[in-house]
Amino acid sequence: MLRQVAEGVLIHQSEFCQSNAVVVHGRVGVLLIDPGILGYEMAALADNLRELGQPVVAGFSTHPHWDHLLWHARLGAAPRYGTARCAATARNLLSDARWKARIAEWIPPDIAEQVPLDLLGFITGLPAETARIPWDGPQARIIEHQAHAPGHAALLIEERGVLIAGDMLSDVLIPMLDLNDSADPIEDYLAALRLLEGVAGDVDVLVPGHGSIGGADQVHTRIGQDRGYVRALRDARVPSDPRLGPSATYDWLPGVHEGQLQRLARRSERDGTPGWRSSIEDS
Ligand SMILES: [Zn+2]
Repeated sequence: MLRQVAEGVLIHQSEFCQSNAVVVHGRVGVLLIDPGILGYEMAALADNLRELGQPVVAGFSTHPHWDHLLWHARLGAAPRYGTARCAATARNLLSDARWKARIAEWIPPDIAEQVPLDLLGFITGLPAETARIPWDGPQARIIEHQAHAPGHAALLIEERGVLIAGDMLSDVLIPMLDLNDSADPIEDYLAALRLLEGVAGDVDVLVPGHGSIGGADQVHTRIGQDRGYVRALRDARVPSDPRLGPSATYDWLPGVHEGQLQRLARRSERDGTPGWRSSIEDS
C-alpha cells in the first residue's frame, strides 16, 4: 500500500481528497507525517509497518486542520509533534466541549463514520526555534510559516531531497488562505511561497498534502501557480488557474474561490483599505 517516492521515503494516498501520508525510514522505526484520514486506511498502514518491523517512532502534523491531525490506536503511542502554534491551535480546538460537532461540519457526511476522531489533535508542540524534528532518522527541517493555517510547517528531508509541503503547492487544490487567524493573509501566503522558493533548489521530490507527487521541475511551476492565484485573488482578478477550470479535479473549488474573494472584500471594506494594500512584494 506504500509507494516509494525517494530512498527511504514512502507515501500512502488516501481515497479522501488525494491526501498524502508520508513515511520516512529512520534507524529503528519511522517518522509518520499527516497519517491519513480513514480509519481502515490508517489501520492498514499500521499493520503494514508492523509487518515490515518498522514501528512508528515519531509523528508530525503539518498544520492544525482536522484532516492532518488524525491518528489511529494501532499506530502506537509515539510522540506526535507539530509547531508550537499548531499544537496550541489544536489544544484550543479540543478545549471546546462541542469540538466534535464543529469538526463534523468539515467532514463530508459520506465518510464521517470512517474518520476516527478519538485521537485527533494530541500534538506535542515543538518550541518556536526548533529547526528539526527530534528523532533518530534523516534530518527533517521544519519550515514554519503562517499561510493556510496557524503554525503551518513544511518539512524538508534534506538527505533525501524531499519537500513535504503540507497544504501548499498542490496540483489539485487552490491556495486556501487563513482568513481567521492572519492579519494579512495575502502577504502571509506570499511570504510562505518565498520561503519554499528559498529551498526549492534542494528539492527532487515534492509531496503536497493533497494531490500528486511532483519532481524537481514541478517545484517552481507550482510555486508560480500558487503565487499567480494569490495575486489574482489580491487584485480581485479572475485567476487563470487549471485547478479552477473545466479540467479541474474538484468541482467545489470555484465555490471556495468565491468565498475567499468575498471575505477578502469584506476585510478591506472593514479596514477601509483596498485589498491590494496588503502586498509589500510584487515582483
Ligand atoms: Zn489544511
